[in-house]
Amino acid sequence: MKLTIYNTLSRKKEEFVPLHAPNVGMYVCGPTVYSDVHLGNCRTFISFDLIYRYLLYLGYKVRYVRNITDAGHLEGDRDEGDDKFTKKAKLEQLEPMEIVHKYTIGFHEILNIFNTLPPSIEPTATGHISEQIEIVKKILDSGYAYETSGTVYFDVEKYSKDFSYGILTNRKLEDMLEGTRELSGQDEKKGRLDFALWIKANPETLMQWPSPWGAGFPGWHLECSAMSSKYLGNTFDIHGGGMDLQATHHTNEIAQSQACHHVAPANYWLHTNMLTVNGVRMSKSAGNGFLPKELFTGSHPLLEKGYSPMTVRFFMAQSHYRSTLDFSNEALLASEKGFSRLMEGYGRLQKLTASATSSIETAGLRAKCEDAMNDDFNSPIVISHLFDALRAINLVHDEKETISVTDLTELKLVFSTFIEDILGLKSEAETSNGNDAYKRAIDLLLNMRLEAKQNKDWATSDKIRNELTALGFEIKDTKDGFEWKL
Ligand code: AMP
Ligand code: ZN
Repeated sequence: MKLTIYNTLSRKKEEFVPLHAPNVGMYVCGPTVYSDVHLGNCRTFISFDLIYRYLLYLGYKVRYVRNITDAGHLEGDRDEGDDKFTKKAKLEQLEPMEIVHKYTIGFHEILNIFNTLPPSIEPTATGHISEQIEIVKKILDSGYAYETSGTVYFDVEKYSKDFSYGILTNRKLEDMLEGTRELSGQDEKKGRLDFALWIKANPETLMQWPSPWGAGFPGWHLECSAMSSKYLGNTFDIHGGGMDLQATHHTNEIAQSQACHHVAPANYWLHTNMLTVNGVRMSKSAGNGFLPKELFTGSHPLLEKGYSPMTVRFFMAQSHYRSTLDFSNEALLASEKGFSRLMEGYGRLQKLTASATSSIETAGLRAKCEDAMNDDFNSPIVISHLFDALRAINLVHDEKETISVTDLTELKLVFSTFIEDILGLKSEAETSNGNDAYKRAIDLLLNMRLEAKQNKDWATSDKIRNELTALGFEIKDTKDGFEWKL
């Protein structure tokens, strides 16, 4: 089965055919770094990490560009409100660039804890002001924009005569106008859907740059057109982001890129669904944003306890990226149990002894997992196949079934490929301090206990067992030695 991807543009699953295989260009809208990322943001970036990892597994040479929005994002999507960076800088009494740096570091730390791979390029809006100005000039030249006293607007009505402005969400202009505010005599823009490409600065605007239209700053949507085309070309393979970006940000980005480069920017548009809390989208503005650190420590008032980063990553992989995912104590507890069972079985697999022949069928596991991922990156189905295989592993472990050397080697490879390389999961011990020293220290203690037992030194053996148990470790004696978990 070939890789098929649900394309928001065509509203159906399509076979993935890259423009220049084996190269693949993928652009994902990154965070706006004026505050800490919440778990909803993390869901989107973790979903794209899974997609990136699977494309790499398929042998594609992926250039993954994920931007950092560090300028030009006003509070309202329609060019209203304060600039988010200026507002935060005033609040925290810092330079806007101190805000940007602080929250960029925090974002990287969190994504690192979640074991996501870094993108190939992580460009910033402030680092690409001249490229953005060039795009505004080109759109003005092609007649799809106009300037009013230092601000340049995209002319949606004019554009709609030649192209479909609502192509991404399959909406007509009349429908899109619904819910937008009537223009007053004070407005500089001509049409209600017109959006700013370049915004005139006030004297108190902290982040501003010179331009042919006077001092100002870029509109939020512009940076993605500038940076995606710079690093991936005018048309590239995949463009992604959260579903909340479809209606405005991505719609405007398509219009800008089309008006500037005369081609559609991306062939496949992928959108991740939202993480919700009691059915309400998690967002900074709704005030229901859980910070990853609150989740790890359990310090959020709605949490009963803390959950490890890998439990959370597993929880996310258990739902398809296009389904909503509701966040609750119960769901996280279930994921914690499931993840621990999966990793226990994975550990047990490493210790299985091979026989001359296999009495169980495990050879088809790779193909089944690949089929699931090829069907629009269906990670929950991959996990269910791995759980099916766990049953076989337990039967071999209990000596009720046998497995041959060839099957065992392949099974180990499939498990490590799908668990570690594709789902991006690691054992808790590895994540707790970035290496496996902790795990090795516990193994060392338990090996000392085994030695003590062999020497009939029951006092030492009991002391190690009791003290580890008191610390929360569960220790099980097995025929090969021991198994433990926290
Ligand atoms: P922002 O920093 O607000 O620009 O958002 C960064 C990314 O997180 C965007 O791709 C958003 O679509 C995504 N995002 C925001 N809220 C959620 C949520 N509740 N669930 C999943 N993704 C989200
Ligand atoms: Zn974007």
